[in-house]
Amino acid sequence: MSHYTEDELSAYALRPEATDNRQSVEQHVSNCGDCRDALDIIEAFDTALHDPLPWQVAESMPARRNAPPALLDQARAIASADARARELVMPLVDSAIRFRQARIDDDPRFYTLAVIRLLCKVANGMHERQPQFGLVLADTALSIARKLPEPLKARSAWYAGTAWKERANALRYVGRFKEAGEALDRAEEAFESDDHVEPFDLAIVAYVRATVYFRMERFDDAIVCARSAAATFHVYGDTRRYLSALLAEAGGYYGADRDREAVVILERVATLARAAHEPETLARALANAASCYTRLLEFSKAAAYYDDAIAVIDDLDIPTESARLQWARAALLLDRGDFDEGLAGLERSRLQLSQLGMANDAALATLDLVAGLLAADQPERVAGLCRGITLTFSSEGMTRSAKKALAYLAEAVAGGQVTPEEVRHIRGFLERLPDSPHEEFQQIQ
Ligand SMILES: [Zn+2]
Repeated sequence: MSHYTEDELSAYALRPEATDNRQSVEQHVSNCGDCRDALDIIEAFDTALHDPLPWQVAESMPARRNAPPALLDQARAIASADARARELVMPLVDSAIRFRQARIDDDPRFYTLAVIRLLCKVANGMHERQPQFGLVLADTALSIARKLPEPLKARSAWYAGTAWKERANALRYVGRFKEAGEALDRAEEAFESDDHVEPFDLAIVAYVRATVYFRMERFDDAIVCARSAAATFHVYGDTRRYLSALLAEAGGYYGADRDREAVVILERVATLARAAHEPETLARALANAASCYTRLLEFSKAAAYYDDAIAVIDDLDIPTESARLQWARAALLLDRGDFDEGLAGLERSRLQLSQLGMANDAALATLDLVAGLLAADQPERVAGLCRGITLTFSSEGMTRSAKKALAYLAEAVAGGQVTPEEVRHIRGFLERLPDSPHEEFQQIQ
């Protein structure tokens, strides 16, 4: 096939996830030396310019072919260092075991800035699937940064900052929030010690910090960090990150029970995400706005937002997310006293969730249905539904706690004394269990 143009490769380099034919580009580039070299130069050029650029600057940049020769030389040097780093590192990162055994931080061939940057890039793509391996990659990058010989070490501040940031990302995914916060402090120090401090880098640190604070339930701090990150991303014209930071700010307000302030931001995000064709972000904003309106007891607005969110998610064909939203919508209908539609919706949801293999969610939806049937004064099927509930947890301790709660429920049902509040109490306990595995079940007082 014919080669890709510089413009096409530039667009891919800038935002691979937004490239329509991403797979064909990646497949072509992995087989075609010419396009691989062209892409290397493009990526290196952006690095040489210390990317990313505020959009005002980016707009006024001359085309690459008119760039000053010194800059092009620098870009070529970076491209060849990147290619060398890829040859050394990529064969080792298919397997975490092989990577550990290679002990590359004891091997001076790996002591380059390009290797640090590549390890960070691989780590960044790893956190979601294998956060423990992401952590090893980031820590290896940090170890190399400490061992760099001069004069490389004098130029390594940005690279060390990036490695600390990836360490924080990995720690966040494995739930070690306090250490993640410490790693972010180190990232910030490193970025600030560089000759050229890029506000964009500090904004990314602030954004990750906001998500860590959210998980630590430090909601006011999360709001401050997310808002400052959003302001910077806006200046840089990075719409996707800007909207993510706004979502994080809204999350802080939601966590702090300031639903009114959260919903103002979420509605703005929804409008912007629709205009920018960012459907995932749009769906999250709509679903979160629905949760806010539910807590504000504005049920018809909440239902309308769930309908909108479900439509967007169904277009994206994400059945698990669709099932969760339909479940939330049915629970909302019950809350507002619409028993017929609410109970029918929960009935559908629990089957849907279980067919999708989401067994614990199906169990929680069944408990919602049980609470609804009791509230609607239709107790006939309650005992049968309760007997069918099973949950699976990763530890024996959690499984034991869950069994204790379910045994209490079975006993209360058998005694004919069970109330919707008790069922919701048990449901709340089971839902929290994965996040607070040491909580003991206590019956409602
Ligand atoms: Zn080609």
